[in-house]
Formats: sequence, structure tokens, C-alpha cells
Amino acid sequence: MSDVVPARGLLQMTSKPVELDPDVVQRMIEIRRHLHQYPELSNGEFSTQAYVGAALEGFGIAAARPAASTGLIVDIAGMAGHSNRRLAIRADMDALPIQEETELPFASLRAGVMHACGHDAHVAMALAAAASLYRKRHLFRGTVRFVFQPAEEAEPLGGRRIVEEGWIDDVDGVLALHVDPYLDTGELAVGAGTCTLACDIFDIVVAGRAAHAARPHEGIDAIMVGAAIVGELQKIVARGTDPGAAVVVSVTGIEGGGAYNILADRVMMKGTVRTDTQANRVLAHRRIQAIVENLARAHGAEASLHITQGEPPVVNDPAMAGLVARAAESCAGTARQLPGWSVADDFGFYAERSPAAYCRLGVRHGASYPLHHPKFTIDESAMALGARVLVAASLLFLNDGAPA
Ligand SMILES: [Zn+2]
Ligand SMILES: [Zn+2]
Repeated sequence: MSDVVPARGLLQMTSKPVELDPDVVQRMIEIRRHLHQYPELSNGEFSTQAYVGAALEGFGIAAARPAASTGLIVDIAGMAGHSNRRLAIRADMDALPIQEETELPFASLRAGVMHACGHDAHVAMALAAAASLYRKRHLFRGTVRFVFQPAEEAEPLGGRRIVEEGWIDDVDGVLALHVDPYLDTGELAVGAGTCTLACDIFDIVVAGRAAHAARPHEGIDAIMVGAAIVGELQKIVARGTDPGAAVVVSVTGIEGGGAYNILADRVMMKGTVRTDTQANRVLAHRRIQAIVENLARAHGAEASLHITQGEPPVVNDPAMAGLVARAAESCAGTARQLPGWSVADDFGFYAERSPAAYCRLGVRHGASYPLHHPKFTIDESAMALGARVLVAASLLFLNDGAPA
């Protein structure tokens, strides 16, 4: 973890700090608990979509539009003059195939499905921010677009679909929060540069020739070739990338053979490659291809490689990150430089299209469990800061012209 650093310039907001109305705070907690009880898996967020639509209407916000099948988009237009400027705020909505093991009174009622990544809180904070901005619409010009996005956790990724459907084409900046159980309540981490890695997966098939295990020279041992590939792949990171870069190549599955006395004619392997920049992504893919092809050829085997591209890295725009840090300071939160995070987030698709800020909101209380753990919980009192920062960042972004 890096040191706590002051937000750039320690700019004081001229207006009063953004506060949430008490009824909005209360509703935010209710929403989060409801969603926690009724989690839905990626691309199956039908009741979540309906619930979010109803919650918006409950705040007086109509005209939400469906997006990416089970997502929802709503624009909150300011009334303090005309501006074409638009900020998009992403809240992911999906849960995970995990059996919840918390003792919460509002634990999941759906067997084997759990909001273990905090997306229930993301939706609730975005709804609270939408309600607050709607009530403050006389205080800003331009538009805040709330994107309630399905399927962050699993393919087909909702972030890719949202971008492909054009919802980010006409926005000037994009913003997302993710809860972080390693930061305390009241802290918000945001910084310029790469903050999540690109995540791609690969499948390798090595085809050799079976033979009696006592007469190996009559066959081509696919297991031996596969093992050589596994070892060689590690050198992409060890010798092919800058020691300061964040690149991971992991073989996570291997299958082949079956008998004690027959050389395997076929080995299947799978794995993941995580990279911090587009350049390292291209380099890693090329090296994997070269290693697989050439090692197989060297031993007389044949091999095929298939790489499935997942989300790109989230690379924060310096000006957008600075703006969010100022928003956090104005809400009496503590802004930290964002330490690298090796997980992936499909917010990377948004960040490819528009200046982005991806921030981590501290939700630690006592002994915290990590994201995706069956006992993962958050400190709900942390959510108010998240919603306030979304509102304050929106006002700064839309009223102050280009972020500086
Ligand atoms: Zn997750
Ligand atoms: Zn998540």
C-alpha cells in the first residue's frame, strides 16, 4: 500500500460539501440489502434490472432505457443552463456462483449465488447518487448518465456490450467505484495510470503420436512437449518484460494421457494472461504463439493455440483521477494514490473509449474477507462517502469545464 497523499492542489470546493438527504441514505441501505438477498448471475439480472427501474421511479426518475439485455441506462440532465457535456457513471450489477457463508440477517436467499464482489453496494450507491443529482439538477448543466451494467464477472461481458451498443460514444468522461476490503471506511484510492490488468484466456492443444512407453522413439510424447511449453511460457515474464511491469502468465489446467504404459498422443492446456498495457498484451500473445508453435515443431509434434480476448486494462486518465481525488477531499474523505490491482474489470472497455477514473472505496471493518470470498461483507456506513463522491465528482466535472 502506498502512502496517503493529498489530492492535487487541495482545491477547496467553493460550495458546501455534498451531503445526502437522510431518506436517500436510508433507501440506499435498503436497496443494498434487498439486492444482497436476491443476487443474480451475469447476464441473468432480470429482477435486478426491474428493481433498479422501480427504485429510480421511486425517486421520481423516469425514462430509464434497457441496455445490454439486462442492464439499464438513465440520463439525469442538469437545468442550470445548456451544455452538451456528459459524464457516465458505471455500476455493475451481477453476483457470483458462490454459496454465502456470512451470518448476515439479509444473506442471500438464492442457493449458490452471492454478491461477494460488492456489486450490490455499487448499484445502491449509484442509485443514491442519481437521486441526489436529480434533486440538485438546478445546480448543474450537462448530463450524468448512469449505466447499470450487467455481467462484469463473466462472459459475454456487459462492459463490452455497453460500449458496442454506443452508450459511451457521446460521453466526455467515465467514472466507476469498486469497494475494497483492504482500505478503511472513509478512504478512497484513485490515481493516474493502469489500475487493473487486461485479462485474456488461452487454450493449447498439443498433438503427438502414441507409442508403447518402453519404445518412446516410435512415438511423439505430447506430455513431454506440453511440459516444455509450460516451463518456457514462464520466461515471457522472467526475461521478456520490464521488471516493473505487471504481467502474469499462468497455466491453470492440463489434461492428457491415461495409461501407465502408453505415451500420450494429445495434451490440452488452458490458462490466463494478464497484462498492464496494450503493448505488453501484444508482446505476451506473440511470445505465447511462438513458444507453442516452435517447441512443438522442435519435437515433431503439432500444436494449436487459441487466445480469447477478455477485458482490456483500466488505465486512468490523470485529469479524471485528479478530479475524483478533489471530489473525495471535498467530502472529507482521504484520497490515496491507487496501488496496482492485478484483478481485471470490464470497465477497461469504457476506459478505452473515454477519459476514465476507476476508484476503490474503502469498506474494511474488523477482520475483512477478500472479494469473492463466501464470508465477504462490507461496512455499510462506507457507502455514503461513495455516493457523495459520485455526486461531487459529477458537479465538478460538469460545472468546472474540462478537468484540470
Ligand atoms: Zn468480482
Ligand atoms: Zn467486482
